[in-house]
Amino acid sequence: MLDEDPQSFERVLSSMCTDPHPAAVAAAMRFLPTNPGDPSTFPTIAAIEEAVVERLGAIAELSEPTGYVASGGTEGNIQALRIARNAHDIREPNIVVPENAHFSFRKAAELLDVEFRSTAVDEECRADPATIADAADDRTIMVVAVAGSTEYGRVDPIPAIADFASDHGFHCHVDAAWGGFVLPFTDHSWNFDHAPIDTLTIDPHKFGRAAIPAGGLLARNQELLDHLRISTPYLGTEDQVTLGGTRSGAGVASALAVIEELWPEGYRRQFERCQENAEWVAHALEGLEYETTTPELPLVGFSASADLTAKLRARGWKVSRSGDDQLRIVCMPHVTREMLETFLTDLRELDA
Ligand SMILES: *Cc1c(COP(=O)(O)O)cnc(C)c1O
Repeated sequence: MLDEDPQSFERVLSSMCTDPHPAAVAAAMRFLPTNPGDPSTFPTIAAIEEAVVERLGAIAELSEPTGYVASGGTEGNIQALRIARNAHDIREPNIVVPENAHFSFRKAAELLDVEFRSTAVDEECRADPATIADAADDRTIMVVAVAGSTEYGRVDPIPAIADFASDHGFHCHVDAAWGGFVLPFTDHSWNFDHAPIDTLTIDPHKFGRAAIPAGGLLARNQELLDHLRISTPYLGTEDQVTLGGTRSGAGVASALAVIEELWPEGYRRQFERCQENAEWVAHALEGLEYETTTPELPLVGFSASADLTAKLRARGWKVSRSGDDQLRIVCMPHVTREMLETFLTDLRELDA
């Protein structure tokens, strides 16, 4: 098995990750033996991690960024809830999570023994501030808003949700794991500058084109991050805030390498190309009379039967279905116009 090619992205339409940028690959290989979880032994990668946090802060418009490079969005979301739980001295706490949020929040709630309150989304699959307000009470410690949802690429009304959280003394966490590297080039309100957000997940290993694993957790201030601090007597440093102990230096170095290469203009061009592809394929699918979701970000959903999905898969297409039976096309940077044309040709043939 090991002499086979690891993966071609030629027919991958379902992944929220993509081909890592060549600069990311080179940096990942060089820093493979390093461990940012042990900063006194590996000071260079520890300094690189600080630089990544600085850059993520610039992308998310956080003036004095604090945070770290996590293993991914799941860890970022778990840790955000851990901050909220530790910051609030509340018995039987709960978290309010819109239905369009990633399943990692269920893991977080279970791990941290926090009640999970799921709220319905509106017709456009966005969180509804009024429904969230109804679900929250004096035991709520955090509400979640999504900036680029996994199923449909939707952006929640973040200022309304963050204002509500801030007025009531609980945290607002924004999950921009997937959307964080494209949203700066749109007119959406999603970042620290737009709303009183406490914590934010933004993953370089998705649209950022870093090598896996490279996630990001940002907190508005040091005080918030301090809620994660655990003392580490034998490490040569006082304490750590991360969930993992030994961590990937490859992911951290790759994140800095690609951000230095692409932020902001390279990412802007990448976003424009991905968004154009999404709009183009959505238009083509509508022309073929599929019920299609509007691509707010580079993600298109369209109605397709389980049978059609199976036939597409048999031709090697990697496609995934949403909870309500839509096929998803995630227009990541590896998804080219030619690839989409081939896909549509197959679709016409198989659905004739
Ligand atoms: C991918 C994704 C996650 C989970 O991130 P992992 O890196 O897979 O752990 C969380 N939230 C959103 C919105 C995502 O798209």
